[in-house]
Amino acid sequence: MDFDRARSDLVDRLIEAGRLDRPATARAMRAVPRHEFVPSDRREAAYHDRPLPIGGGQTISAPHMVATMTDLLAPDSGDDVLEIGTGCGYHAAVTSEVLGGGTVFSVEVDPELAHEARDRLGRLGYDVRVRVGDGHAGWPAHAPYDGAYLTCAPASMPEAVVEQVRPGGRIVAPVGRGRQELVRLTRRTDGGVDRETHGGVRFVPMRSDD
Ligand code: SAH
Repeated sequence: MDFDRARSDLVDRLIEAGRLDRPATARAMRAVPRHEFVPSDRREAAYHDRPLPIGGGQTISAPHMVATMTDLLAPDSGDDVLEIGTGCGYHAAVTSEVLGGGTVFSVEVDPELAHEARDRLGRLGYDVRVRVGDGHAGWPAHAPYDGAYLTCAPASMPEAVVEQVRPGGRIVAPVGRGRQELVRLTRRTDGGVDRETHGGVRFVPMRSDD
């Protein structure tokens, strides 16, 4: 199978469907080999616009969701970004491509997924640091971040993550129990927070939440 061709066609379709806007996001998604992140028996399906199982009852988000979240976060080259929920590492790799010189700091609660993702990202050459832990606490050691996002759904936005993003920075996350909405917060320089919602979504719930 011609994975490069399939990936390029997928990105073209996402752009045509209006699900991917920013050129930096498109460039990143054209570059990251999603088939390297899915289980080997799922490779042929890597460039369908669908979520896929990655083990441990978890899923890699559909490409259009990664595109939407990357467009909403809109990180700049050189930014440092906090990710909660490394999973297989695909979303982190896309973010890392957008950042160019910056680093993705990613927190994953499942040790096995974290170790696999760390190995895979290292092998593929991405500047992503992975730590095992509960994302509710963020990753204070490298704060403040220029932006943050969650790939698992908390009942409500974790305060620690919001506080670890610098004023002017954005936080993108699926939020809610039962019904989830994609939320984007922007920290204002006066200490306030602007909140927008971007429609209903379905993500795995964030663990050890209640
Ligand atoms: N971005 C990932 C998608 C991961 S699915 C990818 O591209 O593959 C969501 C991930 O969030 C799962 O790996 C799950 O183990 C993790 N997760 C769930 N609860 C968490 C928590 N409290 N802290 C950190 N990670 C968590």
